[in-house]
Amino acid sequence: MFTMTPTIMRNFVGKRATRRYPYVIRPAFENARGEICNDILTCTFCSVCAVKCPSQCITVDKKAATWSCNPSACVYCGVCAESCPTGSLQQKRDYRRPVQEKEVIFLRGEIKKEAKE
Ligand code: SF4
Ligand code: SF4
Repeated sequence: MFTMTPTIMRNFVGKRATRRYPYVIRPAFENARGEICNDILTCTFCSVCAVKCPSQCITVDKKAATWSCNPSACVYCGVCAESCPTGSLQQKRDYRRPVQEKEVIFLRGEIKKEAKE
């Protein structure tokens, strides 16, 4: 018991080892792989991201001009953003905010001329 006393006292008066996330968020490290976001207006619905995604969590419908991603299945590898030919898909450094229910990111863009045919 007495051997633990210094440790107990140090923990009582010392700074917390943990943060009250999500109220206190630690800044992301450089090169951190965070949330995936798509600028749907510059997306051409080419499906490269969906084909390259190892988790198969991206779905693209060129005719309907829709792009969706299941972030619960995403492993944040960044392959989709690296292979996007238009740069519309980006990977932020910040992590996705915590959610209470599973959600799917669903985006609808503009139908491009060649997709109408
Ligand atoms: S790779 Fe880029 S341009 Fe192609 S569908 Fe995905 S987000 Fe859109
Ligand atoms: S970061 Fe990786 S797992 Fe997540 S959507 Fe992109 S390719 Fe798929």
